[in-house]
Amino acid sequence: MGFDAIIVGARCAGSPTAMLLARKGYRVLLVDRAAFPSDTMSTHYIHQPGVARLARWGLLDRVAALDCPPISKARLDTGSFVLSGSTTPESCDGDAYAPRRALLDKILLNAAVEAGAEFSEDFSVEDVLTDGARVTGVRGHNRSGLTVNVRAPIVIGADGLRSVVARAVKAAVYKAKPALTCGYYSYWSGLHVEGAEVYLRPRRVVGAWPTNDGLTVIYVAAPRGEFGKFRAAVEKNYLETISQLPSLDARVHGGRRVERFSGTADLPNFFRKPFGPGWALVGDAGYHRDPITAQGISDAFRDAELLADAIDDGFSGRQPIGAALAGYERQRDRAVRAMYWFTCYFAAHLEPPGGLRLLDALRGNQAETNRLFRMLAGTTPVTSFFSPGHLLRLFVSGYLAPKVAAQQA
Ligand SMILES: Cc1cc2nc3c(=O)[nH]c(=O)nc-3n(C[C@H](O)[C@H](O)[C@H](O)COP(=O)(O)OP(=O)(O)OC[C@H]3O[C@@H](n4cnc5c(N)ncnc54)[C@H](O)[C@@H]3O)c2cc1C
Repeated sequence: MGFDAIIVGARCAGSPTAMLLARKGYRVLLVDRAAFPSDTMSTHYIHQPGVARLARWGLLDRVAALDCPPISKARLDTGSFVLSGSTTPESCDGDAYAPRRALLDKILLNAAVEAGAEFSEDFSVEDVLTDGARVTGVRGHNRSGLTVNVRAPIVIGADGLRSVVARAVKAAVYKAKPALTCGYYSYWSGLHVEGAEVYLRPRRVVGAWPTNDGLTVIYVAAPRGEFGKFRAAVEKNYLETISQLPSLDARVHGGRRVERFSGTADLPNFFRKPFGPGWALVGDAGYHRDPITAQGISDAFRDAELLADAIDDGFSGRQPIGAALAGYERQRDRAVRAMYWFTCYFAAHLEPPGGLRLLDALRGNQAETNRLFRMLAGTTPVTSFFSPGHLLRLFVSGYLAPKVAAQQA
């Protein structure tokens, strides 16, 4: 059978791209070197924009049926004060979810196969095939070690941070920043969290939220430069950080860690040129950012839609394929520009731009606190939250007005 597209990587970026192209009637080959269900490193928090896409694709019910609680509340503990609010956008009643990746990725893969994509697991791509001018397919080996060549008009690298496709086509990198944080996480039973809890402390950010089977995932982020020290005694350093968070520490002591620690410092920040003759990149393969803002899954879902639409525009003749894919790059970069800035700042300083003074200005102002949480969720634009007019209003209402009122009293 001839294929219209070969997609390398079958997780948050690859499977939705395969599903969407197959639903449009294209013949898709999806390959992954892993066998599914398969876990991968992630704390798997899906913000509302990502959840909205799952709903649009008809997959949210499957995620919600996994004994995975919806998350609508958020709590930000600065050590001096706590901001509590809602992550739910005003315009809809959507919640966030944090399903385990082995479960989520299998749902996405099943949806791609149901839509008509052909899937080969345990298939490792080694290189792309070219005719000298454009990519024409992939060379890989299957589980029995047999080398296989497959051809299609487009090869899509959805193969993650260390993308083999990106390396083979020498995709240009831009706006790169080195890794800024490292982090470790694990899962706890008997530990209740009320929605998403985030703790800011000097040189540490801790996140905790509920996932499947009554478990809670707790992530500890530290500066990249401390990775060696952290890795030398992971449990000690992890628990030492949590011991500075009395409300979480008490619950950790009352709960039980049920899995080993996972962690990494391989968290660079960059964009890759996501297309060229006969190839495209989607998900982490094309854009990677620190996980501190938990945007990767939602980004991958959005880009899967943008890329599938662009390929359809090109293949159906509505636009030249090069112009359609250039539009995909433009839309992706525009969609993430401000969040990329925010993420890199947060990762570099382990506090948001404006620091505790900005957060202090939100105290007692529920509407603005919710707006902060919506900005973190990606439903209020970063640019509008950090616009000079909005910052001025926050400064006047949260800082200046109380001072003047106190002087008048
Ligand atoms: C510690 C950590 C915590 C995170 N927490 C969150 C979070 O809470 N929320 C969030 O939204 N994001 C989070 N992320 C980011 C998120 O996990 C990624 O953005 C997301 O997994 C990207 O999906 P992807 O499909 O692009 O790539 P991946 O998930 O990396 O999948 C790539 C797939 O390609 C396959 N592959 C690779 N090379 C080949 C090859 N040569 N041949 C065949 N197959 C190949 C791999 O087997 C893999 O299955 C976190 C990341 C880290 C590291």
